[in-house]
Amino acid sequence: MMARRWVAETLFDGVRLAFEADAVLHDSTTGHHRLELIENSVFGRMLLLDGAVQVASADEFVYHEMMAHVPIIAHGAVRDVLIIGGGDGGLAEEVLKHRQVESVLQVEIDASVVELSRSHFGMFNAAAFADPRWRVEIADGAAFVRGTDRRFDVVLVDSTDPSDTSAALFTEAFYADVGRCLRPGGIVVAQCGVPFLQEAGFRGSMQALARVFDTVSCYIAAVPTYFGGHLALGWGSHGRAALDADVDTLSRRAANACRDTRYYTSEVHRAAFALPRYIDTALNEAVAAR
Ligand code: SAM
Repeated sequence: MMARRWVAETLFDGVRLAFEADAVLHDSTTGHHRLELIENSVFGRMLLLDGAVQVASADEFVYHEMMAHVPIIAHGAVRDVLIIGGGDGGLAEEVLKHRQVESVLQVEIDASVVELSRSHFGMFNAAAFADPRWRVEIADGAAFVRGTDRRFDVVLVDSTDPSDTSAALFTEAFYADVGRCLRPGGIVVAQCGVPFLQEAGFRGSMQALARVFDTVSCYIAAVPTYFGGHLALGWGSHGRAALDADVDTLSRRAANACRDTRYYTSEVHRAAFALPRYIDTALNEAVAAR
């Protein structure tokens, strides 16, 4: 009998989560990452970068719906969206479900992630990659926001956890450049890890956001493949109007774009900002220390 192959996620010190690989579809080293693609009987097709799970076909809807629909529906009149990272295409797919969105520019550093995802994750990204409103640029997201004079209504930072490649995407300097790229009323949402396991990083991101934006918050989602409790999505905006939109306004706006969601509802949208006390305390302390 063939030995079973288990692929262990090596993201956290002292904890290892392993997935059985029914098949290893790809394993290579790009200029930026070790890139692995496996099939797992529970989570489906999974992409790992440098030993950290990035996306799984079975639960990608949770993360992508919450990262896309919360700021877009809260804003109410989004035309142009910038995605930093997100090379698997799942986030772009959710963003493009909004008919009022005119353009999605994706700035991803690793072309191999985009190419591999194009050929292996068509089940969730085919519509995005075929959409004429979507465009990808292979570049460092931090350098892009520093240099561009384009303006966006929403910026989504769909990055790997901090590493040599992505550390700049969690800094005050980066958020300041993002702030400059936002039109009035604009919103940035950034993946800020799992606070239970990555509290220092979560506090650092919140503090950096608070040094740039007058309105800073965070909302949570339960992503089964992201081990360790809630995933935090950091929010920064100038002004509170979008953050405070009530559930009736949200459900009116969601009625067109979000009919087929599997996680997002306008009630979940509002409830996601109700934080467990350990996350709320970390957020408030980080903001107070800005
Ligand atoms: N949802 C995922 C997670 O947190 O597990 C993130 C998925 S997405 C595949 C992350 C992407 O961010 C990767 O494709 C990676 O290449 C990209 N990335 C990392 N650093 C970047 C940078 N400095 N500029 C642009 N993209 C970057």
